[in-house]
Amino acid sequence: MTDLTADAQALAQASAQPGRNPAAPGGARTVASAVTPAVVARLAAGITTAGDPELVHTTAPLTGERLATLPQSSPADVEVAYELARRAQKNWAALPVRRRAAVLLRFHDLLLRRQDEILDLIQAETGKARLHAFEEVLGAALAARHYGRSAQRYLRDRRRGGALPVLTHTLEARRPKGVIGQISPWNYPLELSVGDALPAFVAGNAVVNKPDTQTALTALWARELLIEAGLPADLWQIVIGDGPVIGPAVVRHADYVSFTGSTRTGREVAQQAAARLVGASLELGGKNALLVLADADLDKAAEGAVRACFSSAGQLCISIERLLVHRSVADEFLARFAARTSALRLGGGLAYGADMGSLVSERQLETVTRHVEEAVKAGARVLAGGRARPDLGPLFFEPTILDGVTPEMAVCAEETFGPVVSIYRFDTEDEAVAAANSTSYGLNSSVWTRDQRRGRAIAARLHTGTVNINEAYAAAYGSVGSPMGGMGDSGLGRRHGSEGILRFTEAQTIASQRLLPIGPSLGMDDEKFAALFTTGLRALKALGFK
Ligand code: NAD
Repeated sequence: MTDLTADAQALAQASAQPGRNPAAPGGARTVASAVTPAVVARLAAGITTAGDPELVHTTAPLTGERLATLPQSSPADVEVAYELARRAQKNWAALPVRRRAAVLLRFHDLLLRRQDEILDLIQAETGKARLHAFEEVLGAALAARHYGRSAQRYLRDRRRGGALPVLTHTLEARRPKGVIGQISPWNYPLELSVGDALPAFVAGNAVVNKPDTQTALTALWARELLIEAGLPADLWQIVIGDGPVIGPAVVRHADYVSFTGSTRTGREVAQQAAARLVGASLELGGKNALLVLADADLDKAAEGAVRACFSSAGQLCISIERLLVHRSVADEFLARFAARTSALRLGGGLAYGADMGSLVSERQLETVTRHVEEAVKAGARVLAGGRARPDLGPLFFEPTILDGVTPEMAVCAEETFGPVVSIYRFDTEDEAVAAANSTSYGLNSSVWTRDQRRGRAIAARLHTGTVNINEAYAAAYGSVGSPMGGMGDSGLGRRHGSEGILRFTEAQTIASQRLLPIGPSLGMDDEKFAALFTTGLRALKALGFK
């Protein structure tokens, strides 16, 4: 790790400015009082960079004011990061799994104890409500506990059936890939940096992580905490810079790539990884649907739909942007859903209380505004929300429900990634399933019915990596022992469960042969060998060997 202390001191001068937070109640802590220049300088020292780096500024979405000034890594710095990580990985991989797992379990406890620090940072960098920032603490803690407790089981050598029963002794072993190149987005910066890094570490790897610059402080804080929990400092390198500039360098040196972000960038990353013949897991976008069946508990469905559509202001890959309602209950459901949506409290204080926070960037606000305005111009009706709220902060947009959306409107099929949901009505189950599946994406879906069996039958017909029955997204996402990811344009590979850790390993088969070789021997001619083995194969099948 490059020693940046001196640079960091200098950066601190230029960093966070005293800020105002109009959405915070009088006297409450502000972004500027929580993320001080000293905090920024301390965290910035964890970035792998050298010499006289170019600086980049980030802005607090809640106030529009300067949040941090950070040094950027160059492609050459990325190379250095890989060298440092590669060296550290050798010793780390030599430790028993249980020692590596203990670091995750200590991290779990530290995270819960120090959660207020990271909740402040997540809110400051993303503008989301504290409750939604807490979801990240929850997700990261669940992953830390799961892989801390289960890694030995996932990674242990497994006895497999040998080529010849008794005579061939076969083991399947799991070896770490080496150094994982991890590229992560801004929307769930704790969960999507640390949540994927933890299984990589416990499997014996190092990680070179490029978080989004906007949310770099969150990733840097998580790294600091993992080091406190016992992770060797060089094992997790964090590089900061423009995606198109240093992203390809991260992929160029990686032994495996773990990417989370848009489908467009995911395709580029996949092509680069394929050209190098290294594997990649890609967690990409979605246009997720929620189905309200005629027998659903409408109060619970309306409450769940609010969470599904507006958590993190809809900037959640698994959030719902299409709501399909059975025609017989549509009016009743919509009245409840719209009332709950209109009652949501928007706010940006660094405390619990707000139901929804701000968008993260001008780019997000522009997309959300464009999708809503175009749809309304083309005839869609606004059932709730529909406008930006500059009175609360520069990037607030109301939770919005649109009815009468038609296929030519961008909001119908494109991922908005904001607090906007469109309503569609259906008459039959087949119609609902066809509508839900009428997208190239396949990330998440949600089904509301009193009949669990029927819910599971519908789930089997939905083309999405996760299906939640009577829940928005948290039931499947929080089930960290089970895989999570996308079908179709929503990605490749899975996080969580066995796939979520085994992707960071190479399978190695070790077979030892005893007594009889698998070939003609002891003077046996080829024909006799073939005849003997033909008889043997028939016998093995007849005896039920697998
Ligand atoms: P993005 O693709 O623009 O950026 C993601 C990351 O890739 C950032 O760190 C960015 O700097 C980097 N990047 C950009 N260009 C690159 C390049 N050419 N090479 C390598 N890296 C590059 O996505 P975003 O707008 O930051 O994130 C939002 C998207 O992420 C949405 O589509 C959302 O659905 C998706 N997402 C998916 C999941 C999931 O688990 N499936 C989770 C969160 C977000």
